[in-house]
Amino acid sequence: MKKFLLAAILFLAALAAGAQVSRPKLVVGIMVDQMRWDYLFTVAHRWGDDGFNRLLSQGYSCNNTMIDYVPTVTACGHASVYTGSTPAFHGIAGNDYKIDGRSVSSVEDTTVRGVGTTGKAGRRSPRNLLVTTLGDQLKLATGGQARVVGVSLKDRAAILPAGHSADAAYWYDNDTHQFITSDYYRQNLPAWVKTFNKENAAVLARDVWKQPCGVSMTLALAEAALRAEGLGRDEVTDLLAVSISTTDAAAHTFGVRSERVDSVYEQLDRDLAHFLRVLDNQVGQGNYLLFLTADHGGTYSEPHMQQQRITSGRFDSGKARQEANRVLKDRFGVDNLISDEMEYTFYINNQAIAQAGLDREAVKTAAVEALAAPRQVMWAVDCERAAQAPIPALVRERILLGWHSKRSGEIFVLPVTGHYASWEGDRCGSNHGTWSQSDSHIPLLFYGWHVPQGETAQLTHMTDIAPTVCAMLHIQAPDAAIGTPINAITASRQH
Ligand SMILES: [Zn+2]
Repeated sequence: MKKFLLAAILFLAALAAGAQVSRPKLVVGIMVDQMRWDYLFTVAHRWGDDGFNRLLSQGYSCNNTMIDYVPTVTACGHASVYTGSTPAFHGIAGNDYKIDGRSVSSVEDTTVRGVGTTGKAGRRSPRNLLVTTLGDQLKLATGGQARVVGVSLKDRAAILPAGHSADAAYWYDNDTHQFITSDYYRQNLPAWVKTFNKENAAVLARDVWKQPCGVSMTLALAEAALRAEGLGRDEVTDLLAVSISTTDAAAHTFGVRSERVDSVYEQLDRDLAHFLRVLDNQVGQGNYLLFLTADHGGTYSEPHMQQQRITSGRFDSGKARQEANRVLKDRFGVDNLISDEMEYTFYINNQAIAQAGLDREAVKTAAVEALAAPRQVMWAVDCERAAQAPIPALVRERILLGWHSKRSGEIFVLPVTGHYASWEGDRCGSNHGTWSQSDSHIPLLFYGWHVPQGETAQLTHMTDIAPTVCAMLHIQAPDAAIGTPINAITASRQH
């Protein structure tokens, strides 16, 4: 009888445990725009113990996390981290791309209006994103009870991580110098955002894109959102997605490892330490699961490389297009047969080809040849036939994963490694977008709820992040996820 009772109690206990999956109160995703993996170590001597070093010493560092597609740019990176997928699937094929022949910015949506601004910067939503995100899965798993909020200076870096079903996303408007949203999310700017904008008006009017104060403003808004939107307060897991943009804009201007950029990271370390303390106080140590990663890396500037006698240079995509168009005109008698170029992606002018009754395949083949001609170009690839391209499998695979059949250009150009499509101003800035280690090797730190301490040099992928978090939470991974949960993180998950 006793044995029977014990068995019955154990059975009931197991039933109860099955019904109640244990989850953290909050998931915090922090993305640092253009943070190279090695920044974790090259700038570490300028950091305290409570920011990055707290994550490194108490959390888990995946030291060999790669981006598996090109182009390695902001919009693609933010979408890929939170969908566990790549542009071929999620449709965010660049910072800009084409939908039905029209050039759009990644999160542009003319059907919505700005809230907190009357300008164009408010006409943004996640509608161009074709698949579900981590936050969407959290909403689905909790019957909509989870709260999901995205915060960043950049619109795309707030909107794409927050996903379709988000409660809110806030980004910075260059015209009003304030944080705004769109009516995709809500009709009025919440009182707490208005207050934040008012109280910080003087700082927000400064160059938040390139000065350390941009980091502080972003994390301060994240902190305010945490309190005001009631994140991590109950047993239903919420998501706060934060992205730091200043690191990218500063690096584009001043260059990787310049004093100006290092000082931005120094500020980030201080603000991160404070933000972690806030999470400890508001949500409780051990009650939140945090990951920190980047949307892409970045290379040293051209002069910086040349100082060390390392080859580097410029691939002028505008000039490449012009020259290719000249060659194509000589052969086919039609102007502008390559209609657009967006960094490394080139669009064939299908309309002109149809109007002139040209053979599309012949034009495309000639365009590929012409674009491959400059000395700074390694390969030009016909994306519609990328699977057959005579290039190394690793690069071919990255083109295929980064190419969206309805939105990307037909031709992708890969410059000689170390050459970049655009350099700002006097070329002292850094750059990214290619498949190289500089651009595609990103930091990945996990910290908090059931995360073991440690590190690995084993290969992991940007697309593993969302599946890993979902495995920890015991929720379904985003629909188009192609990554795999990282075993070292999920193994210590207790029930
Ligand atoms: Zn950038």
